[in-house]
Order: sequence, then C-alpha cells, then structure tokens
Amino acid sequence: MKKVIPLEFRRDEGRSPAPHFSGGPLVDTRQRAMHDLRISVTDRCNFRCVYCMPREVFDANHPFLPHSAILTFEEIARLAGIFVGLGVEKIRLTGGEPLVRRDLHRLVALLAELPAEVTLTTNGSLLAKHAKALKAAGLDRVTVSLDSLDDTTFRAMNDADFPVAKVIEAIEVAAAAGLAPVKINTVVKRGVNDQDIVRMAERWRGTGHIVRFIEYMDVGSTNGWRMDDVIPSAEVVRRIGARWPLEPADANYAGEVAERWRYVDGGGEIGVISSVTQAFCSTCTRMRLSTEGSLFTCLFAQTGHDLKALLRGGASDEAIRNEIAAVWQRRADRYSEIRTGETAKLRKVEMSYIGG
Ligand code: SF4
Repeated sequence: MKKVIPLEFRRDEGRSPAPHFSGGPLVDTRQRAMHDLRISVTDRCNFRCVYCMPREVFDANHPFLPHSAILTFEEIARLAGIFVGLGVEKIRLTGGEPLVRRDLHRLVALLAELPAEVTLTTNGSLLAKHAKALKAAGLDRVTVSLDSLDDTTFRAMNDADFPVAKVIEAIEVAAAAGLAPVKINTVVKRGVNDQDIVRMAERWRGTGHIVRFIEYMDVGSTNGWRMDDVIPSAEVVRRIGARWPLEPADANYAGEVAERWRYVDGGGEIGVISSVTQAFCSTCTRMRLSTEGSLFTCLFAQTGHDLKALLRGGASDEAIRNEIAAVWQRRADRYSEIRTGETAKLRKVEMSYIGG
C-alpha cells in the first residue's frame, strides 16, 4: 500500500513567499503540466551503443562522475517527494544503465512510498539478476531497450559483445517476477537494424509484451545523426501491417508518447514513437533530473539547473519546491518541432548523463 503524501501547494501565512509559484496547477509557458520525472541514477553503462555512448568518446579516459558528485538515494527520494507534491505521477529510473548502480532496489523501495508509478528503463543485461528484488521493492513496470534480435547485429550495436539471448531471457525472468507486460524499446536506424522490424514484431506477438519502435534521434553531441538514417514510424507500421494487419488503438492517457497499433487478429499491440517525424513537444510533460542533481526540461537541453547545491546547502523543501516550480514555469522547450540538420549539430547534453 503506497503512502499518500499531502499536496501542499499553498503559500503559508507569515513565511517567506514563494518567488515564482503561488499554488494552483503548475504549467510551463506552453500550458504543459509536469507529470513525469526521469531520474538518471548513474552516468555509467556496461554497453557502448553506437548511438548513445560510442566507445571512441566514452573510453577509459572518459571522466565519469565520482561517487561524491552523484545524488545519494536519500537525496533522490527527497527530491522525488517534492516533485510528486508538484504534480508528478510517474517516475522513471534511467541512466546510463541504472542497474549498474549498486543496490538500486533500495532506491525503488524509497520511491515506492510515494503516490506515483515507479518504472525503470534498462538494457536488460543485469535485469534477470535483479528482477525479483526490484519487484519486491515496489517497482511497477520495466522497459527493456533491445535494438536487434540478430546476435551479430546486437553484439555490434552494444559494442560490448553482449549476446541477445541473455536480454531475451531477462525479459521472461522479469515477466515471471511480476513485471509483465514488459515494454521493449527498439531504436530503428536505417541500414543498421531496419531489416529486423518485422522479425522483432513477430518475436513479441502473442506474448503480451509490447515492442515500441523509436525513430532514431540526434541525442547528445556524439552520435553523428543524419535525417537519412531515420525510418519514419509510418514505414514501420506499413512494413508490419503488410504481414499482420494493424489498426490504431486509443492512447492510454493524454500525452502518451507512443502511438498504439493493435493487431487485427488479436495478437497484441505495438507502439511507435515518432520523435522526429511527428514531434510531440506540445504535450511533453517530462522533467529530467541528472545523476548529479541538475534539472533539464528537455532531452535536447544544452544547460541544466543545479538542485544539488540547494540540497547540500541546507535548503528547505519549500525553497527547493519553489526553485523546481520556477524552472518549470519558465520552460518553453520544443526542440523536436524545430529540429533541422543544423540544430542536430548543436552541443547538447549527453543522454547517458540526463537519461533517455
Ligand atoms: S524535444 Fe524536448 S520538449 Fe520536445 S518532446 Fe522531446 S523532451 Fe519534450
């Protein structure tokens, strides 16, 4: 049973007034509410996926964050409670690879006390080992990133020689541990894994798990993105629909990022995430908290807002809440609506630092 934290938005009489936030619904400059919080718990990963942490950049000399610089579980949980008080209903743990952070289930247990859904995105390599403990700690759902079912392609994409069979096994272990249905995220890049689209759909049809195909994006500054590399979601739907007819399904909730498509024959559903060809910035309700406690209002942000200094400087919950609210109220991000080949070259923060 989750503990309910009272929502205390009102400014107390006699106390110093909130500089920017005086209660009521918290919205940004485009009237978007804050509903989702993505927390990167580590900037490290045991994979070196070419589109995310290419080995030539993230090599032995890369300056990963020292332990003292990253937020503790207690600090993360305190912030998460404040975010929930401001309207966040979903918390997603990301990284890097979140399961390389030791005892992650301890953080899940702290977050599970909050009246919010707690989910995790993982590359699956360590999931089989931790699935039971995560579920017992209160994890609600898990999303596994898996870009190919072909072992040679998968090993080349993760650049860590990790076999695909182990990730597939982890998905089943997670489901058996009570984390079903598992969502499986596949980033599709033309000429790299697009030949696997139909095979991927076939593998998960009828299992209850939901594969979601994501358009390849210009995340970070190191992946050398070009529009030619993008397979539009419409093409993904066309290719799968040619084999097993599909029909659109309603969104589960307003602002859902994935567009749902259902197999007409009852074989389940797939999702497509059209981050490039159909930007969904107008309904983007996501805030991101980096490993070292900076806030980012967009996946493509160039700068963050430091919360760690407030946390470690003894600021009250109210002061931190006001700072978070002020950051959100100033938010005007809509990167995917204005993306061009030129913006793709801008220096952006790496995805492994703020979480995908
Ligand atoms: S580009 Fe930024 S504002 Fe647009 S959907 Fe992505 S994270 Fe949200």
